[in-house]
Order: sequence, then C-alpha cells, then structure tokens
Amino acid sequence: MSSIFSKIISGEIPCHKVAETDDFLAFLDINPNAKGHTLCIPKKEVDQLFDLDETTYNRLMAFSRTVARAMQKAIPCKRIGLTVIGLEVPHVHVHLIPLNTMEDAQFIKKEKLTSEDFQATATAISRFISIS
Ligand code: AMP
Repeated sequence: MSSIFSKIISGEIPCHKVAETDDFLAFLDINPNAKGHTLCIPKKEVDQLFDLDETTYNRLMAFSRTVARAMQKAIPCKRIGLTVIGLEVPHVHVHLIPLNTMEDAQFIKKEKLTSEDFQATATAISRFISIS
C-alpha cells in the first residue's frame, strides 16, 4: 500500500507545496511545531533514512539545505532545526523546523494555522527557492 506521502506526490492527497524537483518534494507539515515547519521527502518510497542509497541520501540532504536556507529568509526565527523521526509515516522525511525555543524542536506544542496561513507560508518560502 502506498504511504500517505506517496499519495501526496501523486496528487491524490493535497499539500501546501514549497518546492519540487523530479526526485524530491517539500511541503508544509499539516500539524506544525512552528509556522513554516516543512517536510522534505524523496519521491522514491523508502521507509528509513539510512536505507536510502547513498546518492539519494546526499541529494535529499542537499535539497533540504536549499529549502532550509529559503526558510531562514522567509520565516523570522533563530535558526532552522533538522530532525528525522519517521515513527508515524514510513516514508523518509526530513523535518525542517523554524526554532525560537527548545520547545519548537520537541513535537509537544503544536501551532494552529488556518488554510490561508499555510498557503501564505508555503508561498513565502517558495519565493526564495530557485532550483535548476
Ligand atoms: P514522523 O513520522 O513521526 O516523523 O511524523 C510524521 C509527520 O508527518 C508529522 O509531523 C505529521 O504532522 C506529518 N503529516 C502526516 N500527514 C501529513 C499530511 N497529509 N500532510 C502534511 N504532513 C503530514
């Protein structure tokens, strides 16, 4: 069965897209720790990060770096944190989280955003991304 993230890639489930290449997709987390919390995924469905082939792993990290640098410009915060968990969705995803306090990294306190907030945030980040 396809993961929920494969359904996002195929367009079966909507998302607030931040960036896309042939092989990777970045979109806003639906239940964000902080405004701008973004997930970067490979389109190839693999459960665990360290099971990715080395090339895909390195390219996912490079893609995540591009997205994180755009987030730094678009979202007021002290820094962007990177976390990989995967206990909920068995499809590799890198969490990029705007951090102001340690709580923002802890997946405890969640931010409630309207659909307009999500859309405006995705657009604000994507404006700073140019992928050739
Ligand atoms: P984890 O697998 O523990 O790293 O967590 C999965 C993350 O995916 C959580 O932060 C969820 O809020 C997020 N998530 C689950 N479904 C969706 C979805 N349809 N769109 C965006 N984010 C999602």
